[in-house]
Amino acid sequence: MDKLQKKFKQQINSMVEISHRLAYLGYVASHGGNISLRVDHDIILITPTKIAKRKITFNDICIVSRDGKILFMPENRTPTGETPMHNRIYIKRPDINAVIHAHPPCLTGFAIAQSALLELPLLPEPVLELGPVLSINYEEPISEKLAQAVDTVITKSNAFLMNNHGAMILSYEDLERAIDLLEMAESMAQSVCTAKILGKVNVISCEEIINLNNVLRKRAMPLPGKKDQFHSLEEVFNIKSGN
Ligand SMILES: [Zn+2]
Repeated sequence: MDKLQKKFKQQINSMVEISHRLAYLGYVASHGGNISLRVDHDIILITPTKIAKRKITFNDICIVSRDGKILFMPENRTPTGETPMHNRIYIKRPDINAVIHAHPPCLTGFAIAQSALLELPLLPEPVLELGPVLSINYEEPISEKLAQAVDTVITKSNAFLMNNHGAMILSYEDLERAIDLLEMAESMAQSVCTAKILGKVNVISCEEIINLNNVLRKRAMPLPGKKDQFHSLEEVFNIKSGN
């Protein structure tokens, strides 16, 4: 076993477990999706390219530095082509420790529709824990342009739709938390579809959003988005009193 594999054994095991859970949930198909975990200030564990998430084992996980150097690469494995995008997120968001990019069917439907509906405050828990699900412009997968497109919104929330591609979730904590948040986002997307079928999609009022700030404080939760970027949920959702 490589010395870095040994050092980060527990975290690599969690990468494997979350990869399998993504596959089990149907959030990735074929070789799709990629996940990463920051284990040290600038050391990132990341999934390899060209392998189904359900087949990933301990010896498939790659280790890179935040500036793109390969620190450990298992035989016959290469870090995901989306590594520059993950690294960029960790540079722009020093408060983030785990990133999941996947293609959950309902969220990906919203990404294909380029719908902005999930940017609205629709359900209390996602308002508090995810922030608005913001869109990232379509760019070619695995390109530097995609990594740059991420820059425009990455500080403003912890949940994103990649237009005509899929979803991305950031967690302050770990991958376990990131996949829970991804499930929350996918569940909300399903509920919004049901609401659309039944009639109107109603938003939570500005007054109620202001009240939710108290819940955040009581639970000692950070506001969604980059630390110190916003001072209230009204700012996070870009709404003004009277809206
Ligand atoms: Zn993808």
